Amino acid sequence: MKITLLGTGSPIPDPNRAGPSTLVQSSDASVLVDCGRGVLLRLTAAGLLPPMLSAVLITHLHSDHVTDLNDVITTHWVMSPEPTPLKLYGPPRLQEVVDGLLAMLAPDIGYRLAHHADLTWSPVVEVTEVAPGDEFALGSTRVKVGATDHRPVEPTVAYRLEDAEGASVVLGGDGVPCDGLDALCQGAGAYVQTVLREDIVRMVPNARFQDILDYHSSVEDAARTATRAGVGTLVLTHYIPGLAPGQEPEWRAKAAEHFDGPIVLGDDLTALEL
Ligand SMILES: [Zn+2]
Ligand SMILES: [Zn+2]
Repeated sequence: MKITLLGTGSPIPDPNRAGPSTLVQSSDASVLVDCGRGVLLRLTAAGLLPPMLSAVLITHLHSDHVTDLNDVITTHWVMSPEPTPLKLYGPPRLQEVVDGLLAMLAPDIGYRLAHHADLTWSPVVEVTEVAPGDEFALGSTRVKVGATDHRPVEPTVAYRLEDAEGASVVLGGDGVPCDGLDALCQGAGAYVQTVLREDIVRMVPNARFQDILDYHSSVEDAARTATRAGVGTLVLTHYIPGLAPGQEPEWRAKAAEHFDGPIVLGDDLTALEL
């Protein structure tokens, strides 16, 4: 199993970091988790095009996690030689978001249908709204859905992917530590968590920025979750604020105070294999 941090940014625009998005590749499945800003630039850099995806999993409907979902839908459609469903999984109201995107894309869909004689179908998007406890298969890779706590954003979910060879990874999405996330992470090979640096955020005298402290895991929170659940490798992403060049050791040290195993963090396209 290969895990690639496609986009390690956050809602804060960053010239060097795409928005939140992670690619998980197993022997017979390529799964995109979240579709932040610039996702297709990074997916292409990782060697994949949208029709090669088995499915797209969405952790929650915050804008930074779905900004470029429309681009994935359009590009999957125009690059597919025949009607092929784009499989989307996510929390309740994902269908509403997709319906809105398709309405926004209606002029473009009309132009392309009129222009290309061999393109005779509109985008085929197959939405499955999921809840904690759900399980499904993508090829031989099993996906389990778990609860996260990102309140007042509700509902939100995390995903655990396990391949046929026994490798496993949890994509925690946004949120603070909770029992649901601990249970999903139990014994996982890797745990990917979106994080903020509480010590830095607290120094910024801006009320709207301070608001984010109560619904995100800090680096230390993520490390404690990893230890409680006995995961193999802790992977940090969605850095708030953006990880500046040379800051990696400082962020890693904060996590290492609470977690003994390997800690992975870095620029977009940082990857690890399990
Ligand atoms: Zn969020
Ligand atoms: Zn986010």
